[in-house]
Amino acid sequence: MFRKAHWLFTILCGGSTAAITIIMSLFYLRVSEKSLYDNQFQSFQNDISTITASLEQSTSVSMQWLARIEAQNGYTIYIVDNGAPFLYNSLRGSIDSSGQILLAESLYAYDSIFMIENLDPEGNSYSGIWHTEYEFTSPSTGDTYYASLIDIERNRTLSQIVILSSMASLRVSIVRQRILFVLIDLCAIIALFTFSWFFTGKLLKPLQENHEKQLQFVAAASHELRTPLSVILASNECCQSATDEERIGFSQTIRKEGKRMNHLIDDMLTLAHSGMNRFQIERKAVELDTLCLNAYEAFEPLCEQKSIELSLSLPDAPLARCHCDSDRIAQVLSILLHNALSYTPQDGSIKLSLIYHKERKTYFEITVSDTGIGISDKEKQHIFDRFYRAEKSRSTKGHFGLGLAIAYEIVTGHHGKISVHDNPPNGSIFVVRLPE
Ligand code: ADP
Repeated sequence: MFRKAHWLFTILCGGSTAAITIIMSLFYLRVSEKSLYDNQFQSFQNDISTITASLEQSTSVSMQWLARIEAQNGYTIYIVDNGAPFLYNSLRGSIDSSGQILLAESLYAYDSIFMIENLDPEGNSYSGIWHTEYEFTSPSTGDTYYASLIDIERNRTLSQIVILSSMASLRVSIVRQRILFVLIDLCAIIALFTFSWFFTGKLLKPLQENHEKQLQFVAAASHELRTPLSVILASNECCQSATDEERIGFSQTIRKEGKRMNHLIDDMLTLAHSGMNRFQIERKAVELDTLCLNAYEAFEPLCEQKSIELSLSLPDAPLARCHCDSDRIAQVLSILLHNALSYTPQDGSIKLSLIYHKERKTYFEITVSDTGIGISDKEKQHIFDRFYRAEKSRSTKGHFGLGLAIAYEIVTGHHGKISVHDNPPNGSIFVVRLPE
């Protein structure tokens, strides 16, 4: 399921970002190509303006001068004398057939014949230079050019100069630019998909872990519920053929296991609510010393039964109040003391203490230390996990491995911290820190 989702998110995330990148680069390419064309045309027009300015100043057109312009700018220049086309090619001496065709095509593109016929309808003699620039594609070769037609009229003679600038080099640089863009886009798409793969993987990881934890939780919960349930069913079956005295024993077992199930279900609901953020914490100003005293009094008789010494240490000075949920914190104390009692052998000792720290940060510290079996470093990493029970405590009935998970949720819900340490030479210390 998660693998499919991973692929789907990668395609979605990578695909959409790649599409945006392609659209943006196409747009940029279009703008850049247009400006390349415009710049080239602009510089061609500038050259022509310079040429016509020089022509205006001189009475005759020097062929050497035109040849120099051709060589400098890579232009092709044709001259048409007094309406007679194709007479002279400045560079080659005589115009070749492909030049003739090109000249005819460029003139036709501009409809220059029309211009010549209408140049002087009144038959007046006047002189002047006119020029115009345009783009044309040769129908015979398919090549594109910027062309300029310069009409020079002096004393009723008309000379026409056609200047052609091939756009082949511009086309080559545009094709190069397009190839470069395709390569850049390809690299960007590969990078985007790789990034999306890792990014969505990171995004899905906590979800996957959570899903796995939920599955483990459900499996462990079913396993834990099955034991008391099968005892209840077996006891109920035995009741059918049991004597009255035996029946009392069986019904006591059924009640005991029922209570166990009830307790387990309460714990699971508490954890389920914490996972769904429906964990209610009702803060009030609470006297933590009173809360510790109550817990001490509740556990004292139980410790006495097991010959365990329970002691309480509270600050002498009056304490500031802690803003917390008194029922929830009492539940934490009960879990820690219950564990200490369960995992401390006879004649051991348990100490509950409360300290108020007023250094840089003010906070309360509750510690429950015991001289019990202790917790190995490996176990310390897991004891706050749901349904975790160390091997040695597995056989203990009434322990589902949920107590510390609940304590953890309550303490972190108060923005506090819970930790476990060794209590040398043996035993453990649980430390709960709560902000004021
Ligand atoms: P449980 O209901 O099994 O005690 P907890 O979540 O309260 O579940 O504790 C998880 C495990 O941590 C226990 O099974 C036990 O192995 C270990 N543990 C908790 N408290 C103590 C303690 N005071 N001394 C030794 N081991 C402890």
